[in-house]
Amino acid sequence: MSVHTVFTKVLAWFDNNNVKIADNVGEDIDWMRVIPFVLMHLVCLLVFVVGWSPVALWVALASYLLRMFAITAFYHRYFSHKTFKTSRIAQFLFGVLGATATQRGPIWWASHHRRHHIHSDKDKDIHSPRHGFLWSHMGWFLCLKNFSTQEHAVPDLMKYPELVLLDRFDTLVPILYAFSMLFLGQFLEYAYPELHTNGSQMLVWGYFVSSVVLINCTLLVNSLAHVLGSKRYETDDDSRNNWFIALFALGDGWHNNHHHYPVSARQGFFWWEIDISYYLLRLMSVFGLIWDLKPVPAERLYTNLINKKG
Ligand SMILES: [Zn+2]
Ligand SMILES: [Zn+2]
Repeated sequence: MSVHTVFTKVLAWFDNNNVKIADNVGEDIDWMRVIPFVLMHLVCLLVFVVGWSPVALWVALASYLLRMFAITAFYHRYFSHKTFKTSRIAQFLFGVLGATATQRGPIWWASHHRRHHIHSDKDKDIHSPRHGFLWSHMGWFLCLKNFSTQEHAVPDLMKYPELVLLDRFDTLVPILYAFSMLFLGQFLEYAYPELHTNGSQMLVWGYFVSSVVLINCTLLVNSLAHVLGSKRYETDDDSRNNWFIALFALGDGWHNNHHHYPVSARQGFFWWEIDISYYLLRLMSVFGLIWDLKPVPAERLYTNLINKKG
């Protein structure tokens, strides 16, 4: 690999327009994409160097929950499936918040997710566990083939220049977020020394640990929720309802429900299926921040049941 090629690929970490992909590109893993992904995981080991404090753990948890909500409620239920409406400004702000989760921009995320629903567990599904569990969890986004946004799948989102810009520079958002964690820790060390935290500790817990857990929990919906769990509805795929993933992914683990009826704002269809993102969306709708949440029509709850007793 020439110096110029390496330079171009490093530049591509920060500006997606610098990535040139040949039409006939295969599904080979792009190692220049793997490096930052692996590094993020390795940096988590620094918890043994920076130590911990209650405040660092609380911030890590809050950072996880806030960004998981942005992913499940906005990247997934809003940008990908349009299950409710909101203002253009809220759409952008939650797009930015979602981008801090280090899962690329909202248009890229939605474009690939919409393709997943069209081809679920068929040959053209980009992340079906039928093509290998590791592939469905992480291989699919580490190859050049799936690097680009599938613009034909998201014409409704491509018409917003602010979202297109966010997608182009999607790496800058998590970098700024990581720095904000660093500065928060430095501020707390200075202003509240009794909390026993500092910049590096907050950076490791509030950004790296929190993001790595968040990324993998999101990816489990693509991988494990198509393998492990129960199937209530006869869908044309392997999707499963998995309460464990639903808990950590704030409702997105009710994945068989979701594949049965993807256009609903709720994914836990019954009261006992905990769907925290949906509860928070309902709360947001009370304050007028979002509206027109699409329900599951009563008759769809009981169609295509595998076990007629439900
Ligand atoms: Zn799925
Ligand atoms: Zn979906």
